[in-house]
Amino acid sequence: PGFTVAIVGRPNVGKSTLFNRLLEQRKAIVDDQSGVTRDRQYGVADWSGKVFNVIDTGGFVSRSEDVFEREIRKQVHIAVDEADLILFVCDAVTGITNQDEDMADVLRRSTKPVLLVVNKVDNSERALFATEFYSLGFEKTFFLSSISGSGSGEVLDEVVEHI
Ligand code: GDP
Ligand code: MG
Repeated sequence: PGFTVAIVGRPNVGKSTLFNRLLEQRKAIVDDQSGVTRDRQYGVADWSGKVFNVIDTGGFVSRSEDVFEREIRKQVHIAVDEADLILFVCDAVTGITNQDEDMADVLRRSTKPVLLVVNKVDNSERALFATEFYSLGFEKTFFLSSISGSGSGEVLDEVVEHI
């Protein structure tokens, strides 16, 4: 496929879960060893007859701040270099963190389209609190639960609009 989507975001927001969800139609790659450090994963997704590559970035999880900073830079670099569209994943359970804000600052300057994906919106109570993520200022903001799949169709519909 000639179109590539990169999934970025800080550790534990659900990037790999979303990655597997997006690839579900094809059952291409399944990470059966969650928590395993991995630089990135590639897969091919298929939606409404449109096919595209998906990159899951940042398998690396660390508590060290400067390792984290390096990881962010690396992810953004991969995203800007290789992707045509970026899915910026945040976590509705933790709410907005400083790390989210730092990443948002970088991504807002990207020339590539960025969709903000607020994950772990598993119920209507979380949906209420998740509206705080509009303050990050992304025109395209989606709320979903990668675990249940609810809301992922809207994200995919928007992704394929750009192909
Ligand atoms: P990553 O580090 O960003 O790749 O995050 P993972 O995909 O490994 O997920 C981190 C944790 O969040 C795991 O325990 C997932 O099961 C959990 N998770 C992912 N998506 C959801 C979701 O939609 N709802 C809930 N409640 N948990 C989720
Ligand atoms: Mg991961």
